[in-house]
Amino acid sequence: MATVSAPARPGTRAAGPTRRVPTWWRDAAGLLAWGSMLVVVALWVRGGGLQDLTGGTGAALTTSGRLTGLVAADLMLVQVALMARVPFVERSYGQDELARRHRLVGFTSFWLLVAHIVLTVLGYATSARTGAWATAWDMVRTYPGMLLAAAGTALTVLVVVTSVRAARRRSRYESWHLVHLYGYLGAFLVVPHMVWTGRDFLTAPLASAYWWTAWALVALAVLVFRVALPLWRTGRHRVVVERVVWEGPGVFSLHLRGHGLSRLPAAAGQYFVWRFAGPGRTRGHPLSLSAAPHGDRLRVTAKVAGDGTAQMARLRPGTPVAFEGPYGRLTEAARTRPGVVLLGCGIGITPMRALLEGLAYEPGRATLIYRARSEADLVLREEIRDIAARRGAAVVELPGRRVPDRASWLPDWAARWDDAAALLRLVPDVADRDVYLCGPDRWMDAARTAALRAGVPAEQIHRERFSM
Ligand SMILES: Cc1cc2nc3c(=O)[nH]c(=O)nc-3n(C[C@H](O)[C@H](O)[C@H](O)COP(=O)(O)OP(=O)(O)OC[C@H]3O[C@@H](n4cnc5c(N)ncnc54)[C@H](O)[C@@H]3O)c2cc1C
Repeated sequence: MATVSAPARPGTRAAGPTRRVPTWWRDAAGLLAWGSMLVVVALWVRGGGLQDLTGGTGAALTTSGRLTGLVAADLMLVQVALMARVPFVERSYGQDELARRHRLVGFTSFWLLVAHIVLTVLGYATSARTGAWATAWDMVRTYPGMLLAAAGTALTVLVVVTSVRAARRRSRYESWHLVHLYGYLGAFLVVPHMVWTGRDFLTAPLASAYWWTAWALVALAVLVFRVALPLWRTGRHRVVVERVVWEGPGVFSLHLRGHGLSRLPAAAGQYFVWRFAGPGRTRGHPLSLSAAPHGDRLRVTAKVAGDGTAQMARLRPGTPVAFEGPYGRLTEAARTRPGVVLLGCGIGITPMRALLEGLAYEPGRATLIYRARSEADLVLREEIRDIAARRGAAVVELPGRRVPDRASWLPDWAARWDDAAALLRLVPDVADRDVYLCGPDRWMDAARTAALRAGVPAEQIHRERFSM
């Protein structure tokens, strides 16, 4: 275990979002989502939904179908809004929590959609005393907008099937992502049947006003934050590749240069989604800053993981770069304590290296713990040591293979240590520090468990996942 400590030097100022995100932002975002569902249920009640429950089997089934359909449609909107990269939502929850919620809301919306179809068909069939299949076929053929809704449902089924974890693991990221985008088309295709046949649209102006406003706001959020803002920033800052530098086995840094980049609200610990001119330009790659932003320069460091990163390593100086971001909450803004522990594993060291440089801390109040498979894999090692020496931080390098028989954040040669005890031994006051984590998912889970067992409160643990 190599430990490098260092003499005292004053802390540097972190750029970008350094103010703590007010907790009410998160509450406000949650309230908006739950509030929208309450409004939908209230509109259903106002439209006679409750009375219909007592109007015989057919009417009860149909009105239940209406309610499940309306809530499913509302959740679809919530789902799209969660991934619209609205800054206050993104900064309140962080992208990986949003992705998890997006998934949960998506599956809930899907099952409600299934309930909507089944209940509505059974309701109509019961009232008309016809068979369910004949009724379904008749509805698709004759009701306005219903063919489009059927196509939208088919697309939604495709997205859901490919998002089930087992299928997701087997498919290429690009294929999964492309299919996933059809979900937006699916959500769009179900709109006409609501407008043309939905009782709320035909009879209740208040309900129509709600739905049109909700659709317009969500569409606007997607257009502004996922399309217009990235295009505007890309055009304004004209980022190009300055050079590519190999850092170690299969790991390289891209040095990027642009105009007026100091005006970007970017901070150490954040990431951007990058698109490079040339083959595969449509494909976005999330990569974290591996150095704090400096003037008109940014740097990212990537490990060759597949086609996209292999192509990146061959980029020529001057290649134009499009980008979305900055994103991520792994910044100074997450701080709750004066002291920090930065735990990075493998390529997860990139945001930790930037944070070591960019966070504000007093000498002796920061420790960076660096896990890698071997000494050769300790990329950026020299510069990490330099920063630590300048700023009075401690660095602990832990090269070595994984512990074979349990989930642990330690290397195999330290397997006899208990995970939490080892952390406490390295950083005795860890419970009174903020802990930043980045690395492979299982390693992060083990490190988080160790930190919790060592007495670190959950709200002091901040992490970024490199998988989605
Ligand atoms: C927030 C975040 C920050 C990241 N920061 C870094 C970093 O600083 N350095 C680094 O080396 N890697 C980072 N990654 C991972 C990096 O984005 C992927 O390794 C890269 O996009 C793989 O592209 P590829 O075409 O070479 O590989 P592929 O063959 O397409 O994929 C290889 C692996 O990467 C995953 N992957 C591919 N594209 C994405 C994507 N757009 N989002 C999430 N996972 C993807 C795939 O599921 C697969 O497991 C980060 C990921 C995220 C989500």
